Amino acid sequence: MGRQRKDLEKNKYYKSARGKNRSIPSPLLKLLIRQKYHIAGEHSAAKLCHWSGEALKGGEGCYKNKFYGISSHRCLQCTPVLLFCNHACVFCWRMMPERKLKFEDMPCKGFSWDEPEKIAKWLIEAQKEIVSGFGGNPKVKKELFGEAMEPMHVAISLTGEPTMYPHLEKLLDEFHRRGLTTFLVTNGTFPEQIEKWKTYPTQFYVSMVAPNEQVYRKAIRPASTGLWKKYLGMLRLMPAIGEKTRTVLRMTLTRGVNDSDLEDYANQVRVAQPHYVEVKSMVFVGGARLKERGLSSGSMFEMDEIDGIAEKLAGMTGYAVSERHVPSRVVLLRRDAEAEKKRMIKWQ
Ligand code: SF4
Repeated sequence: MGRQRKDLEKNKYYKSARGKNRSIPSPLLKLLIRQKYHIAGEHSAAKLCHWSGEALKGGEGCYKNKFYGISSHRCLQCTPVLLFCNHACVFCWRMMPERKLKFEDMPCKGFSWDEPEKIAKWLIEAQKEIVSGFGGNPKVKKELFGEAMEPMHVAISLTGEPTMYPHLEKLLDEFHRRGLTTFLVTNGTFPEQIEKWKTYPTQFYVSMVAPNEQVYRKAIRPASTGLWKKYLGMLRLMPAIGEKTRTVLRMTLTRGVNDSDLEDYANQVRVAQPHYVEVKSMVFVGGARLKERGLSSGSMFEMDEIDGIAEKLAGMTGYAVSERHVPSRVVLLRRDAEAEKKRMIKWQ
């Protein structure tokens, strides 16, 4: 390990990232680089999504490719908020403040927010750098490689809570201006900020991670009290947002953690009236495997169990079971098939 660390000190990419970034402490920066994050400025990053890599090699795309038609190999997975999150969900697979840094230690000395225009440019450049590594791969067809070098879609979902970036609306604008479509995944704890937006992502996701406040406190470990109320405020705002863009509630069901009280989840769906609900199992990878989280591979649901929960929820809410993706253990519920057809977005 010591040797690896020293090697990283000399690594060209580390040096360049260190030169441009003042706020990420060196041990954390090294860890991020080892985990293949491509740092863009002070607080943003891109990382190759597993499914983008698979699709580039001619394999299957992600479930959003199947459900919504996005091109996985042209998708830029990123975050404008690499280090901050006001949730610490026990099932989160991502780099967690709980491990290396405490939430209250952030932001670090020297921190300032980057401008949205620069972030959009840096992230697109970072994606091109990531994809260029596939250039000589015999499994990658020239045509797919060429397409992937021109990303068309941005998934703002990598890590952290993106709405903590105060210029997120402008960042969405920057991507749209460059012809890219956007997915934004938020935990829904900043409704006042989002309510004022004029630009919305092409698809707006809110994570529906707990049926009620009791489970929320235990499983989601919010950074401050009052966040559950904010989340409920976000749900109430969603019907209005749904007039402007496509909306989705996404569940990450974890056995014995947040899988109780389905009726409470159904109430949330009734309030938010999203166009879609994704009923998904957690995946036992990355941070979710940390011993202190108390999870195991048995915390994941089998596909037939997800099918069963999705059907029940559909029955309670009047939604229709629409699609399923077995590798990701997810079922899509749709609000109104006919209305949705008219709203279909052209992704590519
Ligand atoms: S939409 Fe998400 S899962 Fe699909 S390719 Fe993009 S980042 Fe990966």
